[in-house]
Amino acid sequence: MDRLSLFHPVTSIADLAANGPTIYQSANGVRMQNAAGRDVIDMGAGLWCVNIGYGRGELADAAADAMRNLSYQHLFGGASCEATILLADRILTLFRNRANAPHMARVFFGTSGSDANDTALKLVRYYNNMRGLPAKKKIISRLGAYHGVTLASGSLTGIAAYHKAFDLPIEGVLHTSCPHYYGGSENGESEAAFTERMVADLEAMIKREGPDTVAAFIAEPVIGTGGVVLPPENYFQRVQEVLDRHDILLIADEVITGFGRTGQWFGTGTYGLRPDIVSLAKGLTSAYFPMSANVVSERIWSVLEDTSAQMGAFMHGFTYSGHPVGSAVAMANIDIIEQEGMVENAAALAPRLLSALQERLGENPYIGDIRGVGLMAAVEFVADRETRRPFAPGTNPHRLVARLATEQGVLTRALPYLTVNSFSPPLSITASEIDEAID
Ligand code: PLP
Repeated sequence: MDRLSLFHPVTSIADLAANGPTIYQSANGVRMQNAAGRDVIDMGAGLWCVNIGYGRGELADAAADAMRNLSYQHLFGGASCEATILLADRILTLFRNRANAPHMARVFFGTSGSDANDTALKLVRYYNNMRGLPAKKKIISRLGAYHGVTLASGSLTGIAAYHKAFDLPIEGVLHTSCPHYYGGSENGESEAAFTERMVADLEAMIKREGPDTVAAFIAEPVIGTGGVVLPPENYFQRVQEVLDRHDILLIADEVITGFGRTGQWFGTGTYGLRPDIVSLAKGLTSAYFPMSANVVSERIWSVLEDTSAQMGAFMHGFTYSGHPVGSAVAMANIDIIEQEGMVENAAALAPRLLSALQERLGENPYIGDIRGVGLMAAVEFVADRETRRPFAPGTNPHRLVARLATEQGVLTRALPYLTVNSFSPPLSITASEIDEAID
């Protein structure tokens, strides 16, 4: 039935026809059971999203109670509901107290990471149009970035496989260098010098395009799908200086890094970002409900506020923006993250995950780099460790490893840009579960 009825996202139709689907039927904590009765440890937390682990009854109860009480409420025209008001306030409080971002002013809700990034782009346009700068429209993203798959967010994504045959990127989206120190640094180049080169590339692009035409720079604090690329030394501080020089906004895509993944509540705090707009999804509800959010800074909000009488209603929003059931689920999720110390757990177990990978795999001649932050780690394969020469296109050791690992009872993702397997388990994982998975 799967093969005859279901159109899978991000799946090879030919492979599916040959191999059929793998059907999962239940999950608890970090463990999933497939239909063949096989147990696997999910070292991917789904798609980096099941932060509190599977099967938490508190979220099921929160959803059921919310559905019985007020199964739906939109936010159009000033309508509102308590669950969503409380959630917006809670997210702002987290940003102010746990991410050193007191300048964040309002929260807008959507349903997916992709639509959050679309909303961010529309906000940037609106903001500059309201400031009388209609030519300031271009967005700079990075090669290797992943920001979603819609026409706009898929254009922000800097991975060619997502563009091919879709005629992406759309006009006005540019990609600067991927700040991947291990793979992109020149012989003997220090990390600091590499950062300077990446930042110089960015500023050269801005000058080439004309600073008056560039509106925003979008970045994941840690590139996820592109291969767990950590920002090199001082990267965001130096980028911020360039953005400030040219009056360019920073959009932080925290769809993966939000809600504890890096060992702090947000990547904004981990790396000292000063974003104008933040995109959140995934860990907001630990994927128990599809929900996203944009946290918007005072700088943006004040322009929207000041021009509101002249513009009339802000004509953007979704049927499901601020869904009361999602809001209740998100609140229960944040309660669990806080009460069970899951952010602290991610920070405490980060060295364990890295050292376990290094001890077991560090000597392998085809593994060039093992890196990570919080519970977000990667193993990168190279054909030659000395020269860091990558494998030839079409040679996919990471895909083979992912397949063999699944057979051995561990889910690890083979990523589509660098030759990398990622390890990003639920933040509820224990030390012994990490050891078991890596063994
Ligand atoms: N941004 C980042 C950093 C992501 O990792 C993802 C999904 O993996 C997205 C955006 C898109 O989110 P969604 O798949 O919910 O549209």
